[in-house]
Amino acid sequence: MYQLLAGARLPIIPEEYKFCTQIFLTTNYQQRIKNLLNFEQLYNQRSWEEIKNKIYSKTSADVLLALNKKGKCTIDDFLALVSPAAAPYLEQMAQLSQTLTQQRFGKTIQLYIPLYLSNECQNICTYCGFSFDNKLKRITLNNEQILKEVKVIKAMGYDHVLLVTGEANKTVGVEYLKNAIQLIRPYFSHISIEVQPLEQNEYEQLIEAGLNTVLVYQETYNQEAYKIYHPKGKKSNFSYRLQTPDRLGKAAIHKIGLGFLIGLEDWRTEAFFTALHLQYLEKNYWKTKYSLSFPRLRPASGIALPNIHITDKELVQLICAYRIFNQDVELSLSTRESGLFRNHVFKLGITSMSAASKTNPGGYTSAKESLEQFEVSDDRGSDEVVEMITSQNYEAVWKDWDASFK
Ligand code: SF4
Repeated sequence: MYQLLAGARLPIIPEEYKFCTQIFLTTNYQQRIKNLLNFEQLYNQRSWEEIKNKIYSKTSADVLLALNKKGKCTIDDFLALVSPAAAPYLEQMAQLSQTLTQQRFGKTIQLYIPLYLSNECQNICTYCGFSFDNKLKRITLNNEQILKEVKVIKAMGYDHVLLVTGEANKTVGVEYLKNAIQLIRPYFSHISIEVQPLEQNEYEQLIEAGLNTVLVYQETYNQEAYKIYHPKGKKSNFSYRLQTPDRLGKAAIHKIGLGFLIGLEDWRTEAFFTALHLQYLEKNYWKTKYSLSFPRLRPASGIALPNIHITDKELVQLICAYRIFNQDVELSLSTRESGLFRNHVFKLGITSMSAASKTNPGGYTSAKESLEQFEVSDDRGSDEVVEMITSQNYEAVWKDWDASFK
């Protein structure tokens, strides 16, 4: 019983067996991922310096090979696409990236908004306004305050919210997050979080409460430098953070967001390790979706300045390189970037954007009482951003997911 579909011979499963097949596939998947180890083993087989040298020794011929490839690019092609040798091919990369994005996602941009619940944090991160050693008024929203913020966000039209907290287990631990998710569940069809890394069983509890997506950025994949940027607190454990997407995959989360903080270490080498991480996760936790973000270090009170600079052109190169390497991954561009930059770049590979973001707890309903995590660069209202998107013949998507599809 076979049929020919898009060149592949696939078995036709009779209706009465479909349910059994689903159980078999699900059981098989769960058993397989349960026994998986983690990305750290693969990470340990690579050396930062070796990869960096490889990237900087790529040539035009390597770039052209990657750009003219029929079928999927390899991780080695990706090294060429993020290398300095690819700079003269930016126009070609942008055109290819745009075409591939439109083929897979159409002309759409999903919209989401961050909701900062707390700025309490037990960690010292040298690049963050919420760092433990930064003297600022600490605020954690209660139920009433959260619902007030939700009211304002809903009035703007949002259906996808990203809950953000610092890392303070006592005040914003699993119980606090579970309560917040259950509280806002009736108002949103998609709930993401960007909070402290958790255990697998804790993620399972939050998924049960209505969580869809977790963003967990490694900040830097350079283990030596990581220690310097994270001198104190739970976050200083590089391995625990690196293994977090594995715990999420095992918890069967709907979507995982990856990334690194641009401005800490060599962005090209960081990009390689992020791509390797993505490739590993997609292969092993194939039921989960993935997204990548491009946070550039922004000014904030009491933080160190970027260690390295990336130009706007280089950031475009990075976005296009990811798209050419991976056609399924969602690419997100936040309000850390200027309005001008976002207006011009979103069509080259981006699939989701935030707008009208506030990065301090209570920021949508009250005057600026608490310090921002970072200064947003694009401070336009959501209406303006939507108008900009539609004026370029793209569709702004408020809702792309419903829990009933699970
Ligand atoms: S980056 Fe996160 S963990 Fe580090 S200080 Fe800021 S809020 Fe805390």
